[in-house]
Amino acid sequence: MSQGFAPDVERYRRLLNLPHVGEEGLSLLSKKRALVVGAGGLGTPAAAYLVASGTGHVTIVDGDVVELSNLSRQVMYSTEDLGKAKAGILARKLFLLNPDVVVEGLDVKIEPSDFAGVLRLISGYDVVLSCVDNASLRYALNQACVERKVPLVDGAVKGFTGVLTVVVPGKGPCYECAFPQSRAGKVAGGPPIWSPLPGVVGALEASEALKLMLGIGNVKAGWVLLIDLLEGTFSRVSVEKNPSCRVCGNLRSNNM
Ligand SMILES: [Zn+2]
Repeated sequence: MSQGFAPDVERYRRLLNLPHVGEEGLSLLSKKRALVVGAGGLGTPAAAYLVASGTGHVTIVDGDVVELSNLSRQVMYSTEDLGKAKAGILARKLFLLNPDVVVEGLDVKIEPSDFAGVLRLISGYDVVLSCVDNASLRYALNQACVERKVPLVDGAVKGFTGVLTVVVPGKGPCYECAFPQSRAGKVAGGPPIWSPLPGVVGALEASEALKLMLGIGNVKAGWVLLIDLLEGTFSRVSVEKNPSCRVCGNLRSNNM
């Protein structure tokens, strides 16, 4: 748990006056720790809203540097940031946004095959936001979060469409239940992406993570939100827990 801080009334005025949040909610949030894995199109808006809202400790982990092809959608980076490590740049920018909170940038490439490393990475956090474009890492984060019983919010984007999934271990299905690991892989050079799409999905990830940390609203583990910005539609599909899921299934749970 983070140390917490007394919220500045003027900075958080619009949150303080919001039903379900208020002074108590902001005080609670100031003691929470969130991990954002990936500092790209999804991670930049997700981390920014967590920090701006006063989440006590936000860690951003990403081993990449800023590339020119990032800038059409990763709007927190500038042309002058090209070649610099994303995690450090983003952490510095977000600390300037809100010096109340601890913002940590880890310039580390997470290898999904190093599952012990993934487990170490996520331990000690109240929520994990998966903002990655690497399917293997997405599944490894799901497995680690289920094992450590840490809530997970996952976002994925491609073309004009996005997918948002919330996993609350012990309360409903996991990511593997919703998307069995058969299509894992990474599109060479990255898939084409509509510029505002990761902004929308990353902001939704932050919203679900904030609700989880505050214990408010309808965070329904067991649904997948499908976003299509070309059609302008949001649709919610319910997902059942798979009793024989290799990650959270009954046999596995009984052995854990
Ligand atoms: Zn599962």
